Amino acid sequence: MAPRIPFPSDQDATGRTLGDEEIAAVAEALKSGTLTSTKGSFVKRLEAQFAESLGVRHAFACTSGTAAVHCALAALDPEPGDEVVTTSITDMGALTPILYQGAIPVFADVDPRTYNVTAESIEAVLSERTRAILVTHLFGNPCDMPAILQLARQRGIPVIEDCAQAYLARSEGRLVGSLGDVGCFSLQQGKHITSGEGGLVTTNDDDLARRIFLFINKAWGYGDAKPDHYFLALNYRMNEITGAVALAQLAKLEEVVRNRVRTAAALSERIADVPGVGLPQVSDACDHTFWKYCLHIDDALLAGGSPAFGAGLREYDVASAPRYIQKPAFQCEVFREQRTFGTSRYPFSLARPEAVDYAPERFPGTFEALRRILVLPWNEHYAEAHVDHLAQSIRETAARLAAGDE
Ligand SMILES: *Cc1c(COP(=O)(O)O)cnc(C)c1O
Repeated sequence: MAPRIPFPSDQDATGRTLGDEEIAAVAEALKSGTLTSTKGSFVKRLEAQFAESLGVRHAFACTSGTAAVHCALAALDPEPGDEVVTTSITDMGALTPILYQGAIPVFADVDPRTYNVTAESIEAVLSERTRAILVTHLFGNPCDMPAILQLARQRGIPVIEDCAQAYLARSEGRLVGSLGDVGCFSLQQGKHITSGEGGLVTTNDDDLARRIFLFINKAWGYGDAKPDHYFLALNYRMNEITGAVALAQLAKLEEVVRNRVRTAAALSERIADVPGVGLPQVSDACDHTFWKYCLHIDDALLAGGSPAFGAGLREYDVASAPRYIQKPAFQCEVFREQRTFGTSRYPFSLARPEAVDYAPERFPGTFEALRRILVLPWNEHYAEAHVDHLAQSIRETAARLAAGDE
């Protein structure tokens, strides 16, 4: 058995890049006495630098990735009962804002190998009522954006990119979050960079930018000649302390991504020949930035499939999550029972029956993906020793399960 070594965790200092730079920035924010972003400079600098790093005209900070998705949808301003095509494998924070904005999430199936929605799976669920397409670049692996954007442009449907797991990932050399109409990012504890909680919204569209800014600010027209609260909106502002941490983190993002990509490539090279263990499938046109590293376990070759593989790895003190999410998003109670506002079921009460038909046979890719996936935590502080340990553990576990020895 391979030697046991401690693995860094993104839940504490061992696996995060929080250091003197963040401490100094927070101290400066506190000493300034200005903790609101409406008057302070940290959040403004974060927004400017994030927009510049992505090459987009606008970036806005907000309180979470969930808030970022809510801002994107609110900016598009769907009619109640309009549909937003999205993915069955994602974080709930990418989905509940759709309901809060009065729209119906319509789930597209995913490719069973990349775990992402495709132009074909999206097209299959488009309708007269589709008001937006909301894609998640799952685990840091970009969706097939050229095909998705072509479909969306043909139909005149805006595209929102959920990039919470995909900082600095690229499609045809271009950064995700700059490709669709709006990009959404999260600064939650476990993402590439963190301020504990926080979010960022990006766009090149000046009108959408105006609405995003207003939605974050109770729709109060700051700076206008006759400001008012123009429409229904919340306070989603990031505060200056959070902004200070996020600004310091942003300076470290490139190195974080570089390290994650380097060690992921090293692991792939080491386990490429292991029978029954599929590597992350990345298109030649894309750069994956490895929020997580997913193995694709062939249960025809390896007895017990992904759950047995996860249990096997645990014997080497290697953590993994068979399935990432326990079940497809549409099987969660909020969707299954339509638990929303009081007993109204709104906005589900407005939905076309087909839009909320979650029959499993409509989602073959999703169920195959969740059956085979094994998610390994990934981290910018992995060293050669961690990759060695992972490679050896994976190799030995595969050999044992291939021999039918559980
Ligand atoms: C984390 C995450 C979110 C939600 O972000 P929070 O900051 O936790 O609200 C949304 N979408 C995806 C894909 C995520 O990974």
